[in-house]
Amino acid sequence: MATGHDGNGRRPRVLVLGGGFAGIGAAQQLKKSDAEVVVVDKHDYHTFQPLLYQVATGLLEQPAVGHPIRDLFHGQDNARVHQDQVTAVDLDARRVTFDELEPLPYDYLVFALGAEVNFFGVEGAADHAFPLYTLADAVRLKDHVLRAWEEADRKPGVIEDGALNVVVVGGGPTGIETAGALAELYNGVFRKDYPDVSADQAKITLVEAGPELFPMFKEDIRAYTEKALAKRGVEVMTGEVVESITPLRVTLKSGTVLPAHTLVWGAGLQGNALVQSLGLELERGNRIGVDSELRIPARPEVYAVGDVAAITDQKTNQVLPQLGSVALQSGEHAGKTIADRIADKETKPFKYHDKGTMATIGRGAAVVQMLGGRTMKGKTASLAWGTVHLALLPTNEDRAKAVVDWAGAGLTHQRSGRITVET
Ligand SMILES: Cc1cc2nc3c(=O)[nH]c(=O)nc-3n(C[C@H](O)[C@H](O)[C@H](O)COP(=O)(O)OP(=O)(O)OC[C@H]3O[C@@H](n4cnc5c(N)ncnc54)[C@H](O)[C@@H]3O)c2cc1C
Repeated sequence: MATGHDGNGRRPRVLVLGGGFAGIGAAQQLKKSDAEVVVVDKHDYHTFQPLLYQVATGLLEQPAVGHPIRDLFHGQDNARVHQDQVTAVDLDARRVTFDELEPLPYDYLVFALGAEVNFFGVEGAADHAFPLYTLADAVRLKDHVLRAWEEADRKPGVIEDGALNVVVVGGGPTGIETAGALAELYNGVFRKDYPDVSADQAKITLVEAGPELFPMFKEDIRAYTEKALAKRGVEVMTGEVVESITPLRVTLKSGTVLPAHTLVWGAGLQGNALVQSLGLELERGNRIGVDSELRIPARPEVYAVGDVAAITDQKTNQVLPQLGSVALQSGEHAGKTIADRIADKETKPFKYHDKGTMATIGRGAAVVQMLGGRTMKGKTASLAWGTVHLALLPTNEDRAKAVVDWAGAGLTHQRSGRITVET
């Protein structure tokens, strides 16, 4: 395969599918490369997923977690951005098909389409659960919760039927962060917003199938998390599996029926559905297996990065988790490697720099576990969480905005995003 210009002097085309951390990281590393870079995403914005729960609970407004993708390439002359849905990838023909754009052939492909929710076939989940994976999901959940409280204010009778109860499924970071943030919204803001609504009857229940919350963390963090959730009034049910969901009820396999008009699904992910059509043997969770340079084996011109890839850590020999820092670093590595190949330079295997595993349970209550096993909890961990996540935001302007929003919310307890806008 030609690495640099072809016989006609044409620059190689690097087609980047997906404008998440991984796709943006790859495309930006190609800024100085003698390549034509094309980025395609179905949205015209880059989503900062780690803060979606803050949009869902009114702490942040939408633009704080959705940044225009075009804006990120203003200074990159060799890059073009298109908003369109990728519909098929033909690895043999080296060509990608879209909803509306003409099909695009590529010399190098960066497959960075991320993951999507996995309901594991639970009855009613696809129709009635609220996942939290996209900006639209976050806004939908926020609007639903706000409408439930407004309805309870008008018709207090619905409270007894569970109108204000929320069941959050999944004892990992997404479920715990969402349950904690909802509890703070309920106790810190809604009690004042709705003085006539009996807030004591509004329950937030976290349901986890396994024996404990946060299985990826050490015991001291798990104990801290349980206490922090209990302090916020979140009821935790472990060893319970959701069997079915209707708009008003959640039924567990044990037979327990929870009256709740909202079920937040934070229990599982799988690789983007398009991976099924690539004709590849997939890894666990429908992720694409890659070699040490993040290429699909036998397809040296195709790189899979971020949540959609199963990347094995060189140090631990374990598959890396689906995290923002893994996505950004793997995307950047793919972009740099492609630039090196185009320039006929030597390439290197991917090495992940682990900044620790972390999550937030609420204001001033975060947890961090470093690579060596050291743990942090509470305010220090919140600060570490903030520092690591600010670094993932795409521009300095976004970082400045986030600091102001977070500080404002911390000082005033206000959540200015808690409005619903009819369109
Ligand atoms: C609620 C939540 C909380 C999280 N919290 C944290 C956290 O605290 N810390 C952390 O490090 N990580 C966190 N993560 C994980 C982190 O956000 C992901 O690992 C990261 O976003 C993955 O980046 P990516 O680029 O691989 O995929 P994504 O960010 O998912 O980007 C994929 C892109 O592909 C686009 N796309 C998908 N399908 C198509 C298609 N067919 N056609 C065109 N475009 C398409 C999408 O629009 C999207 O822009 C969280 C994730 C979630 C959902």
